[in-house]
Amino acid sequence: MKYYNYQVTFSEIPDEVTLCINLSNCPIHCPDCHSKFLWEDVGTELTKQELYRLLDANSACTCLCLMGGDADYDGLAKIVGYYCDWTTERGKWMNIAVYSGRKDVQDMIDHGASYWVQMLTYLKVGPYIKELGGLDKETTNQRLYRMSRMKLEGDPDQLLKLAEYKYKDGQIWSIQGFDYTYKFWR
Ligand code: SF4
Repeated sequence: MKYYNYQVTFSEIPDEVTLCINLSNCPIHCPDCHSKFLWEDVGTELTKQELYRLLDANSACTCLCLMGGDADYDGLAKIVGYYCDWTTERGKWMNIAVYSGRKDVQDMIDHGASYWVQMLTYLKVGPYIKELGGLDKETTNQRLYRMSRMKLEGDPDQLLKLAEYKYKDGQIWSIQGFDYTYKFWR
C-alpha cells in the first residue's frame, strides 16, 4: 500500500483536525475524479515505520484519515493495526477514519473488507458523482458514518445497520453506525 502525499485539514471530518493520508492505486475510477493521479500505484510505501513517522510529526491532530485503500483491504486492515499499535505504544489517542469510494459499507464487505471497519471512528462511503455533489451538498450520494463501537455513542433509535459480515463458521456480525453526513451541511 502506497501513499502519494498527506495534509492536515479541518474539512474532511467535521469537528476534527485531521491528518489525511492519500493512498494511491484507487480502483474506483469515478468519471469526474478530481485526483486522477491517485489511480496509479505510485508514491511511498506506507510501512509501519513510515506511518509512525507521520503520526509522530502530527500528533496534535485529533483524527487520522486514510483516503482510499479500496484496492487492498488486507493492506488497509494492516495499516489500521499499525495505528492501533501507535496509540498503545505512545499512550496517545487519535480518532481514525477511512474514505472509501465503494457505494456503501456492504459493498466494501463484499469486496473483501471485514470486521475491522467496525473499529473505525468514522467511515465515508460513496463514489464521487459530479451532478450530486460532494459531502458538503445535501444532494450527495456520499455518506459519512460514525461507527458504533464498544458503547453506544448516540440515540439508539438513530443507529443504522450498515452491513453484515459473515464469518467462516456462519456467524453473522452486524456492522452499525450513525449517519453524520448532515454535519457537513451546518
Ligand atoms: S474514489 Fe476518489 S480517488 Fe478514487 S476515483 Fe473516486 S474521486 Fe477519484
